[in-house]
Amino acid sequence: MRGKMRAAVVVEPRRLEIREVDIPQVGPGEVLIKVKACGICGTDFSIYTGKYSREYLPLIPGHEFSGEIVEVGEGVRHLQVGDRVTADINMSCGICFYCSRGQKLMCPEFRQLGIHIHGAFAEYVKAPASQVHKLPPNLSFEVGAFVEPTSCAIHAAKAMQVALGSTVAVIGDGTLGILHTQIAKYQGAAPVILVGKHRERMEKAKALGVDYLVDITREDPLQKVKELTEGRGADFVIESVGAPETYELAIAMTRPGGRIAAFGITEAEATIQVKPFDFVLGERSMVGSCAGVGNDWPDAIKLLEYGRIDPRPLFSLRVPLEELEAALLLGKENRALLKIFVSPEITKREELG
Ligand SMILES: [Zn+2]
Ligand SMILES: [Zn+2]
Repeated sequence: MRGKMRAAVVVEPRRLEIREVDIPQVGPGEVLIKVKACGICGTDFSIYTGKYSREYLPLIPGHEFSGEIVEVGEGVRHLQVGDRVTADINMSCGICFYCSRGQKLMCPEFRQLGIHIHGAFAEYVKAPASQVHKLPPNLSFEVGAFVEPTSCAIHAAKAMQVALGSTVAVIGDGTLGILHTQIAKYQGAAPVILVGKHRERMEKAKALGVDYLVDITREDPLQKVKELTEGRGADFVIESVGAPETYELAIAMTRPGGRIAAFGITEAEATIQVKPFDFVLGERSMVGSCAGVGNDWPDAIKLLEYGRIDPRPLFSLRVPLEELEAALLLGKENRALLKIFVSPEITKREELG
């Protein structure tokens, strides 16, 4: 398709412009998607401020998206114009040591759509057909755009292997933190504890079935989690904040023999204090989890399709493309807000959920 489209371009740190740019040209094996919804994520804020992906600017961010196929490239057989889809954003070389072992996240050529290459805060985005997943008819475009974050949470859950009846504590009351609690509950964890500091978000999590809330602005989280677990600590702890203090707290909060999931993204150079003793004599373990890949995507779609996870209570707003910058700032300012979507097709802000 020839022509121009509107796109949000981060030109340099804290400079985001809505520009007229060329519609991406679809090559063999690729499809062009008309963007219907694209979620705003903490990573987008970090790209906007220059904390992340600075060397890739100018960049069109946006990596949690859904839309409708408007063009298919040569050789694409399983997709057609009109299909409602989302796309796995994780690209890799396919032939290196890691790719050949199914560990594409570690590929030296690993790139993510909307983080390293142009993404979906635009009217159109292109993606390799092999990465595209069709959406079941009962999923809205917003839920379709939420497949990416769901795949990330599922990836972490698979790495954790939570056992039935075990205690899961999640540190962080953001959209993903609350999603982790929903998945833990669904995996049969009991009790599920959310450690956070934003009252409205915590109350939402409580309404969605979290058993205990621990407000770190009002109580000692370590003492409180120990109280709730007969003095032992939680069997599983998920760090979903991305700060050194909360990583140290996550380790302290895990019982001997328990497991920690490293999920929150810290600054690249951040370090923490660890007592090897806790890992040797306590036989604790820690698993890292970076993104949803491979079958995490179809698995996420299935869990959403059959209502095992219903993220809609976590959806706050839908804004026009022109309001992306305002929404990025608003998300940081108004901590009651959870997921905000950009929709290039609307002209007025709409409340969701
Ligand atoms: Zn994200
Ligand atoms: Zn590779």
